[in-house]
Amino acid sequence: MAKRFNRKQLWWLRNEVSLLDLLRRLQWPHKRRDGQLVFVCPRCNESRSDHNPQENLIRCFYCQTNFNPIDFTMAARECEFVEAVEFLLGSYSNTNPD
Ligand SMILES: [Zn+2]
Repeated sequence: MAKRFNRKQLWWLRNEVSLLDLLRRLQWPHKRRDGQLVFVCPRCNESRSDHNPQENLIRCFYCQTNFNPIDFTMAARECEFVEAVEFLLGSYSNTNPD
């Protein structure tokens, strides 16, 4: 049986976790260039990226992938959805809504 997470927690991880903070926690290569967040894409290793704070997404222009915090964690840690969500809930246990 797949583990079920509460919808509020999943919504919160996708929408409220700061991608910049997540990159720091994952110790993932990134920097700010001209006010933009530039990161190394975990799919293609290019660093042609953009950050969309309104939708809480980071995007790689090279391989055309959008990452929310859960997607990014799965790609960066090469893990499945459940493991990524558990990692995020553990990392943000002081701030998550439950
Ligand atoms: Zn890419």
